[in-house]
Amino acid sequence: METLLVLTHTDPDGSLAKPAFEALGLAKELLSSLPGSKLLVALVGQNVQPAANHIAACGAQKILMVVGPDFAQSRYATDAAAAEALMKAAQATVAIAPATSRWNRVLPGVAQRLAGRVDTHVTGASVVNSSPAIHRWYYRQRMEAVLQRKQRPWLMLLDPGSQPAWTGGPGAASPENVPVNLPDGGKRTTVVGVREPSGDVQTIRPDARLLFVAGAGWTKKQADGQVHLKDAEDLILNTLKSTRASLGSSKSLVDLGGEGQAILSFLTHLNQVGQTGSTPRHPKGLATCCHGEEPHTVGWRFINDRRAINLDPNCGWARGKADVLYVADAFAVMARVNELLAASAAADPPGKI
Ligand SMILES: Cc1cc2nc3c(=O)[nH]c(=O)nc-3n(C[C@H](O)[C@H](O)[C@H](O)COP(=O)(O)OP(=O)(O)OC[C@H]3O[C@@H](n4cnc5c(N)ncnc54)[C@H](O)[C@@H]3O)c2cc1C
Repeated sequence: METLLVLTHTDPDGSLAKPAFEALGLAKELLSSLPGSKLLVALVGQNVQPAANHIAACGAQKILMVVGPDFAQSRYATDAAAAEALMKAAQATVAIAPATSRWNRVLPGVAQRLAGRVDTHVTGASVVNSSPAIHRWYYRQRMEAVLQRKQRPWLMLLDPGSQPAWTGGPGAASPENVPVNLPDGGKRTTVVGVREPSGDVQTIRPDARLLFVAGAGWTKKQADGQVHLKDAEDLILNTLKSTRASLGSSKSLVDLGGEGQAILSFLTHLNQVGQTGSTPRHPKGLATCCHGEEPHTVGWRFINDRRAINLDPNCGWARGKADVLYVADAFAVMARVNELLAASAAADPPGKI
């Protein structure tokens, strides 16, 4: 028997982001397999009423809240105090929280304060021998483990994009306020602003349906003996514009920049996919001018449909790494794809492929 708590914070407008609904979906699934257990939800933010109303019908026994201007911004002292107070008020034995940047830096400390345990990068949960178990990937997503813990409370930070989001009709909720004793100096840190790349420079889009990966081949001499970097930039940017795909890169390509060589101007190390890069989640992926080496393709673990375009029929993609390999010149293929996308833009709006 467990007391499950979905512990989440709201967005500035008082609503919940998708990772919070994923945490709720997983908690509901666990609840249905743990007879005698109960579910509560805890919300933190400046205003939580829209969020509470949205999930009013989720079947939680109670919705708790820590609310007010002190809890609007991401700040360790206030967030940790809020989470600690909510865990205690709920008497939670298991807490499922979305692994947002805000919660990731706070909840391990909260687990320590409560003499509990925390697991990060949780990608699922199930019930084994009548107790909850988490699923987590190791060694850069090469091995999946199923883990159980005896210690309570047990906090789980759920990786966004790993679970179906809870859906349900809205209602009218009356969340219960939980008071928080803020420590002296707990409000010393203030957020003075947010700096983020402008819309068209922002190429990493976790919610995109397509991951478009650029490899070092785009910067290599082509059949005419010349490098065509400007053409490569235009082709890739046009593809991103019309598909709203997320841009990934191989390590070789982003490393070239560090070595002083010209690379695509909009790429950074944050785009790198692979063993020493990211493991994004998208329904489809298209690798272009990328060899498909194991340290790169291990980052494709969570891409469902994998395709690649490479001139080399013996590239890594041909050896079981891709579902479909087009042995072709990516410059020519992407130019044609962009033409087709432009022609069908009216009938098939961006983001559909
Ligand atoms: C410890 C370790 C960790 C690593 N971690 C990562 C990682 O996280 N991510 C990562 O990506 N790599 C990683 N690597 C590096 C990895 O092994 C490869 O070196 C790298 O992925 C190769 O990048 P690439 O395929 O873009 O470049 P290349 O190997 O240079 O391949 C370029 C490809 O482009 C093709 N090409 C050229 N022109 C065209 C054209 N016109 N049309 C179609 N195809 C064309 C060529 O045929 C070639 O296959 C790691 C390596 C090590 C040792």
